[in-house]
Amino acid sequence: MVHITFVQGDITRQQADAIVNAANSSLLGGGGVDGAIHRAGGPAILDACRDLRASHYGKGLPTGRAVVTPAGRLAARWVVHTVGPVYSADEDRSELLASCYRESLRVADELGARTVAFPAISTGIYRWPMDDAARIAVATVREAETAVEEVRFVLFDERAYEAFASQAS
Ligand code: ADP
Repeated sequence: MVHITFVQGDITRQQADAIVNAANSSLLGGGGVDGAIHRAGGPAILDACRDLRASHYGKGLPTGRAVVTPAGRLAARWVVHTVGPVYSADEDRSELLASCYRESLRVADELGARTVAFPAISTGIYRWPMDDAARIAVATVREAETAVEEVRFVLFDERAYEAFASQAS
């Protein structure tokens, strides 16, 4: 069973086989954690994202899916880019948020990654309420069939850390 850990910090500083980016469907960078990963990792990540757009995802990466690029200057080997859903109070998009975690782990398994660091997908610009996002994220990882040994949730601030860590059983 996958070992789940929680740290407060900056995901770009993590030593892990793969770190996950809360990307947008353009794969061409954005704000929040996406911007931080591209800034810290350098142009190799964006070059690989552009290639993916051109070769496979002309219309953008669909919500809930995940793709991999190298990690440029980051300590991690790979960046797994996934597109979280924008929160909606009118429509239940939980399955799409869960899919981000499942698909990222599936990609990590294909790579042979043993440690994977996740941010709190969709909880920033995409406005997902933190407690609900934490519940979905942790439950999905706990139930995932994966060979990944450690999933580390890297929470940027104390509020996010508290929400995620309180899901630990
Ligand atoms: P989304 O568009 O999926 O909401 P954001 O990047 O806006 O993505 O936010 C996702 C979460 O990532 C937020 O909780 C935000 O505080 C957090 N975050 C922002 N920068 C970093 C970072 N460097 N490391 C880890 N988490 C970060």
